[in-house]
Amino acid sequence: MIGINLDKIKVINDFNIKNKKIFLRADLNCPIENGKVEDDTRIKALLPTLNYILDKGGKVVIVSHHGRPHGKYDEDLSLNPIAKEISSILQEPVKMENYKLTDELIEKIYKSDNKITMIENIRFCPEERGDNLEYAERVSKIADIYINDAFGTCHRKHLSTYHISKFFEKKGIGFLVKKELETYQNVLSKPKEPFLVIMGGSKVSDKINALNNLMNLTDTFLVGGAMSYTFLKSKNISIGNSLFEKENLKVADEILCKLEENNIKFELPEDHLIVKSIDKPEDKRYSKQIPDGWMGVDIGPETINKYEKYINSAGTIIWNGPMGVFEVEGYSRGTNKIAEFMSKTDAFTVVGGGDSGRAVKKFDFADKVDFISTGGGASLKLLEGNGLPCVNILEE
Ligand code: AMP
Repeated sequence: MIGINLDKIKVINDFNIKNKKIFLRADLNCPIENGKVEDDTRIKALLPTLNYILDKGGKVVIVSHHGRPHGKYDEDLSLNPIAKEISSILQEPVKMENYKLTDELIEKIYKSDNKITMIENIRFCPEERGDNLEYAERVSKIADIYINDAFGTCHRKHLSTYHISKFFEKKGIGFLVKKELETYQNVLSKPKEPFLVIMGGSKVSDKINALNNLMNLTDTFLVGGAMSYTFLKSKNISIGNSLFEKENLKVADEILCKLEENNIKFELPEDHLIVKSIDKPEDKRYSKQIPDGWMGVDIGPETINKYEKYINSAGTIIWNGPMGVFEVEGYSRGTNKIAEFMSKTDAFTVVGGGDSGRAVKKFDFADKVDFISTGGGASLKLLEGNGLPCVNILEE
């Protein structure tokens, strides 16, 4: 269903880790403001694995990226604030080490007695985005066991998420990745009907493969965000100056035909919040039509009511992508309402990471949905049904 055979993948608790060094690829790409961690969701999500390693007498070398430094040191993207936060949560020292992993440093880290070592932002290292296998093999000497718990980056074949695992005899996933995979596996293989998929965000291009796969599993999609304008335009409905993807009009048309042939409902917004310019909310109004010179920035009240009914009668819901420009307060009502309906329904609710996850947290519904994924891109990739490269490589 998700393109991964979970029975063939080892989990951290399948290994004897006492006195062993664990290379833990984590995703600690947390927002940092003024040197302080702003949102510690990703740290908290890693705690089950970290606590397990420490409880069982293992020693961990945490490897993570932060932002996109393009192979160069950037103080603003240092993992120092994250190391401090982990140290304060676990009440254990965290020894920071340089990202320039020389043979001497690799040996020093391997032999050290520190319970928690953290390598500085691995994307400072130009090799991270490449496939230098000789380098990967050298770095693999830093630990005995490779564990990938970086769900948010499991769709990217980088050195520390993918290639390095080839040089470990013992390798597997952590509890965070396990939970993500099991949740998606369960939802996609035996969803409680009716199974509803809500999609939004700006790009159709990112979602084509997921849409094609999900068509085999659901008979209802609710669509919002700028991606809906590509579909509306392909149906020759006027969208004014709304954001859309010209290069994907044909693909959108093909998807609509396929949906119709298969009797699948694909609900597009019937009314919109429109503005003349995204940075001029003063003249915003709701409208069924989008006249020339205006653009849609959110779904309108009739669409919200319609979507609420679907959400209330669903058995399972997956939501990926905001309904509008939710970052701007005046344009966030549609996304806020979807989050609220998700929090109130009896359905099993899964929120893909990225913007929809951020929205659910921003509007304070995080503890009222069943699952919020820690990875937007990785979630979408799973919804395509072809696995995740950095997990598939760990299959035995
Ligand atoms: P994506 O990366 O494709 O998931 O898109 C997420 C982004 O889409 C968010 O930053 C939203 O602000 C943006 N977005 C959603 N709806 C609209 C819209 N109607 N017009 C412009 N941007 C939008």
